[in-house]
Amino acid sequence: MSQFSKSIKAYEEAKEVIPGGVDSPVRAFKSVGGTPPFIERGEGAYLFDIDGNRYIDFVQSWGPLIFGHADQAIEEAVCSAAKKGLSFGAPTTIETDLAQQIVSLFDSIDKVRFVSSGTEAVMSAIRLARGFTGRDDIVKFVGCYHGHSDSLLVEAGSGMATFGAPSSPGVPADLSRHTLLATYNDLESLKQCFENSSEIACVIIEPIAGNMGLVPSDKEFLEGVQSLCREHGALLIFDEVMSGFRAGLRGASGIYGIDADIITFGKVIGGGMPVGAFGARSEIMERLSPDGPIYQAGTLSGNPIAMHAGYASLEKILREGDALYKRLELLALRLTQGLADAAKRHGIPLQTDVRGSMFGFFFNEKPVKNFRDAMASDSKRFAQFHRKMLERGVYLACSQYETGFISSVMDEAMIDDVIAKADAVLDEIK
Ligand SMILES: *Cc1c(COP(=O)(O)O)cnc(C)c1O
Repeated sequence: MSQFSKSIKAYEEAKEVIPGGVDSPVRAFKSVGGTPPFIERGEGAYLFDIDGNRYIDFVQSWGPLIFGHADQAIEEAVCSAAKKGLSFGAPTTIETDLAQQIVSLFDSIDKVRFVSSGTEAVMSAIRLARGFTGRDDIVKFVGCYHGHSDSLLVEAGSGMATFGAPSSPGVPADLSRHTLLATYNDLESLKQCFENSSEIACVIIEPIAGNMGLVPSDKEFLEGVQSLCREHGALLIFDEVMSGFRAGLRGASGIYGIDADIITFGKVIGGGMPVGAFGARSEIMERLSPDGPIYQAGTLSGNPIAMHAGYASLEKILREGDALYKRLELLALRLTQGLADAAKRHGIPLQTDVRGSMFGFFFNEKPVKNFRDAMASDSKRFAQFHRKMLERGVYLACSQYETGFISSVMDEAMIDDVIAKADAVLDEIK
């Protein structure tokens, strides 16, 4: 009998009626093998699967749950809103309340529009940038993920500044032709893009990349990106769908002290409900319909239940402010330091990094600065590590190229317990 037998059966049944048994491919454990546990419920720092296994959760629904599972204040906000009706398709004041919270934090944001996912936020931001500048080309960095819309689903061929090839069938080459690729933390590659095209509407970047593992920008690089954008009249878009309210109170924008022209949000601002948002100064946002000609819409956009969940989360965040992120960063550092020490003891090369409540680690000899470096990590060792940690009740993202998250309900004793387990696992796989 496996400790996962009910999940194994559930997975077989799911695969009969849902492609790959999942509604988002990262959940399928493809890169580590085995069966994903099917979740029954979450409570605080822990997840419980249908076999009754308990896990300390470092995935947190891929980022949103900074206060852990089933947080009381968020739950109450959602339940009391739900009793008044689930959706109206008409304005509600809670949308203004949540927008005000965001606007008050960011100098570069006068107005915000809410959508229902990070993908939608970024897709809309790109359209806005194209409409605003009257240009068609965009630049993205290899290894950054910006959701699954057509223009952005373009990855590295060579990692050079070339026109991109689509990374999925179904994305027309004619579209991806407008997406130029640059190398993360390499300003020269971006200069090359601007030399290759005078039609660049915007440069989009995860200023703290979290979708190739955790790979923060170097400060000089990010400053260089901003000045190149200004020089060439392109808008700079910070995709803070993951890093927003995760890396710090003002996300990467606050950490680096750099104002982007458009910032996208998602994950934490929904408190676990489907919410995305994008914001910019009035001059840009006024071009959006119904004020301006650039079309963008959504039947369930600004959904009241989702807005209440987001507002309750942000209220909690604002109450603790920067101190929240300092506290979570200390726990993240305790974890990565513990992992690094254990790896060293067992002679296993490991790179670690932390930004606020975000942490990452690579089984890699060298520091990771871009996608190519990340891909040089030992994925076989990661798969072994992941499986054995899962068996011991530690729920890590099922790929080395994802970011881990600390939640506010974790404490030092929990982290130390995870380090002890990791030490035992690393000893087994050295
Ligand atoms: C998760 C993520 C997205 C996509 O958000 P979805 O809600 O999954 O559509 C976009 N950009 C970044 C940086 C992300 O981490």
